[in-house]
Amino acid sequence: GDGARVPVLIIGTGYGGSVAALRLAQAGVDVHMIEMGMAWDTPGSDGKIFAHTTSPDGRSYWLRTKTKQPLSNFLGFPIDKAIPRYTGILDAEEMGGIIVYQGRGVGGGSLVNGGMAVTPKRENFGAVLPSVDAGEMYSTYYPRANAGLGVSTIDPAWFDSVDCYQYSRVGRKHAQRSGFPFLFVPGVYDWDYMKQEAAGTVPKSAVAGEILYGNNYGKKSLQKTYIAKAAATGKVTISPLHKVTSVSPASGSGYTVVIEQLNTSGTTTATKTVTADKVFFAAGSVGTSKLLVKLKATGALPHLNGEIGKGWGDNGNVMCGRANHMWDATGKVQSSIPTAGIDNWAAGGAFAEVAPLPTGIETYASFYLSITKNPNRAAFSWNATAGKVELNWQTAWKQPSIDAAKTIFDKINAKEGTIYRTDLFGTYKIWGDHLTYHPLGGAVLNKATDNYGRLHGHPGLYVIDGSLIPGNTSVNPFVTITALAERNIEKIIATDV
Ligand code: FAD
Repeated sequence: GDGARVPVLIIGTGYGGSVAALRLAQAGVDVHMIEMGMAWDTPGSDGKIFAHTTSPDGRSYWLRTKTKQPLSNFLGFPIDKAIPRYTGILDAEEMGGIIVYQGRGVGGGSLVNGGMAVTPKRENFGAVLPSVDAGEMYSTYYPRANAGLGVSTIDPAWFDSVDCYQYSRVGRKHAQRSGFPFLFVPGVYDWDYMKQEAAGTVPKSAVAGEILYGNNYGKKSLQKTYIAKAAATGKVTISPLHKVTSVSPASGSGYTVVIEQLNTSGTTTATKTVTADKVFFAAGSVGTSKLLVKLKATGALPHLNGEIGKGWGDNGNVMCGRANHMWDATGKVQSSIPTAGIDNWAAGGAFAEVAPLPTGIETYASFYLSITKNPNRAAFSWNATAGKVELNWQTAWKQPSIDAAKTIFDKINAKEGTIYRTDLFGTYKIWGDHLTYHPLGGAVLNKATDNYGRLHGHPGLYVIDGSLIPGNTSVNPFVTITALAERNIEKIIATDV
């Protein structure tokens, strides 16, 4: 409550925040978590917690009056529609030159993401986090993260037989015919539950196409893993619909944290002040970067260093679709959980997920989200006149990502005699180069912080989320965010608590 003093306050309940909460609580520390999004633990009037992918409503978007779907068009028609303004689950945040999609609510990105839980190849790790000992990561912290997240791989025999992965098998056939390595990617969906969905014996979630606006069943989001374990210690409290707006040194010791309570229209209904001995920034790459850049520029945290806000990247995300021949139907029913990818990282700088297009009709489309080796990095800065933080990313900076993705899909198109879809992102637009699902960086490890996430200049402040990673993980990022958080919190508990 207002005026309280707490030992540890964590800003955000995504991967970094949840790892910190669990390990601190297990070490006997009382933890308070602040989350700007909703709790997502209560069904709406339709009996479901989350809205369906094809019938978005207020629950689907963070404070928008119209949906902002990653695929804006289909067969030439715009598909966005009016919705009530509400503190919904998916934030399509328009920064300079890029739309950054993020999860909002207890569980952060785990509420909306595809659950692909990929550990980078060890030979690529040095470029991901150059100051971190790879040996320790691969022997201790990646295994710990995978166990904590409940990661497993699909049963390949079931994959080969089931209708809802026909799209993925077509993706495999085309990749292999062009000579590309094709691999299963592990995930956090409960595969046994999905088998029952496909058999029609339980309520459907992935097989019904649920993903972007939450999965009502089957997905092991952080609510079911790290956060459930943290709550079971009895030492963790969570305040949803509370947004941190300021952190500054308190008189005496610790930090004064200013928190706004929101209603579901996004209006501030109360402002509270809490004092915390230690504060962990786990608001995600964009959330943490925006807070730190503002607090440094406005003098609330004057001793933060010049690296704050720098080193931001989009993990090279770029999307595209291919138009298949009639004999390569991808299926009316598509599981929303991608489970396979095309690895051309070493030769072409691209790792492409074979993604679903769960429209409920046969589209004859193959759809892909590529993660690419894009060297461009942006910076956040404080615009004092506008009173907000801005990002200097340029849309043209996606060109290296497009070039990398083309090393896969130009070749497949040539081999198959097929073409790119031009109707998914506008009219005659091939590349989905306007967005990212994987914001990374802004408070880079060993630059803005020490090698364990302690912010320079202000003892007792830590960063423990995707903002530590300088812009690219070569694969989907949440396993690396989780493993790095496991590594850092172990050190912080041993030496600072
Ligand atoms: P987040 O998970 O973003 O958590 C930050 C939390 O802090 C949020 O809940 C936010 O609401 C809260 N917050 C922010 N600011 C404040 C504030 N001022 N006060 C209080 N709370 C605040 N990654 C994968 O590895 N595999 C995938 O398959 C995958 N698919 C994705 C699909 C989509 C549609 C999206 C959007 C992302 C996907 N990702 C995927 C990315 C992954 O979800 C993110 O990398 C990950 O969630 C980032 O973790 P984090 O701990 O840095 O922050």
